[in-house]
Amino acid sequence: MFDTIEWEAAHATTDPLTRMRTDVAELSTEQRTHWTGDSLSARLLELLELRERIDAETARLAAEWHRKRGWEADGALSPVAWATHHAPISAPEARRLFKTATVLNQCPQIADALASGRTTAAHVQALARVMSPRRQRLLPEHETVLTQESQRLSIKDFIILARRWATLADDHLAPNDHDEHHPRNELHAAVTMDGRLNGTFDLDPAVGVGFLGALDHLAPPDPADAPDGVRSLAERRGDALADLANWYHQGTNPGGNPPNLNVIVDVATLNGETPDLAQKRCDLEGVGPITQATLDQISCGATLSRLIMAGDSVILDMGRKTRLATPNQQRAIRIRDTGCIFPSCDRPAPWCDIHHVKPYAQGGETSIDNMVCLCRRHHTLIHNSQWTIQPNPDGTFTVRHPIRAP
Ligand SMILES: [Zn+2]
Ligand SMILES: [Zn+2]
Repeated sequence: MFDTIEWEAAHATTDPLTRMRTDVAELSTEQRTHWTGDSLSARLLELLELRERIDAETARLAAEWHRKRGWEADGALSPVAWATHHAPISAPEARRLFKTATVLNQCPQIADALASGRTTAAHVQALARVMSPRRQRLLPEHETVLTQESQRLSIKDFIILARRWATLADDHLAPNDHDEHHPRNELHAAVTMDGRLNGTFDLDPAVGVGFLGALDHLAPPDPADAPDGVRSLAERRGDALADLANWYHQGTNPGGNPPNLNVIVDVATLNGETPDLAQKRCDLEGVGPITQATLDQISCGATLSRLIMAGDSVILDMGRKTRLATPNQQRAIRIRDTGCIFPSCDRPAPWCDIHHVKPYAQGGETSIDNMVCLCRRHHTLIHNSQWTIQPNPDGTFTVRHPIRAP
């Protein structure tokens, strides 16, 4: 009797979300430490299936809300702005949700299939990913077949079908509206907290194939005995991109007009001491804090205007650009070295940075005896690792690692 009353109290509300909250709270107290792998697998599958149904209902509700422009009541300028302000959701995730909601509003047959569980939220998302205002125009014609296929195919196969449909739509639309059919290439980039450049890109298929082909040609797999280790595919492609940028700058700008950068450094950092964290400044203008090693590397190839600070407000010194190799010196070094001097590196001289073996800041001279060619990858390695370059009496240089064999 008592149990029944408690059960009724817990389920007194007719709101399914209130009941779900109670059930999820109960699920979180489940003791699974002694469960077997099979039991955990079964539970995981159940939860994933349930999550799919919640995703489906979230998308259907978002579609209804989108139709009624629910965000406007709050004065929000867009659904994404409203959602990211009020809910625990990132902007990309919110964009995906509302794109899916838009597809549901445009395709009543798919919306019905989703409501009844004949298709999944992931299938609708796959279609949303390839939807554009232009392709939408073909939806009335193709909706029935897309709905049928979304019920029949696995998510993996439906993603391929959705991509095929997009190319078919483009082919179909192209003759009618040439002006609108621009291959679209986008690159979004932002400087991260630690000064690195992070981004994503979205390239037209032909551009994408050419781009990756060029990177992979520039940086093929390293031999197993490469002196500085074997790089991953992602690392090789990143290095190849750096080489391309370097080659462009060297090629269009041989020996002249190096980038002019401004750095703000506190006097302790400059003297190689460890400054008080609150006082520490080693900032590149437009980027933010950078390491001393990065500063040294940049100063090999850019004119650096320094603003030396003692504390936040006292300027000790301003100006004094670093000395760079003159065009004549650069030409001589490139002819002498023929390419990157790192063992086994095949990057030719026009691709290379000119590196001060003894840094200018530590009294190294801007003379050809103190400068060598290094490709961007090995230039970064020299400034950020224990590898060193030692001049020999005969004017050559030896690249060494203190632990590994020379
Ligand atoms: Zn350098
Ligand atoms: Zn190299």
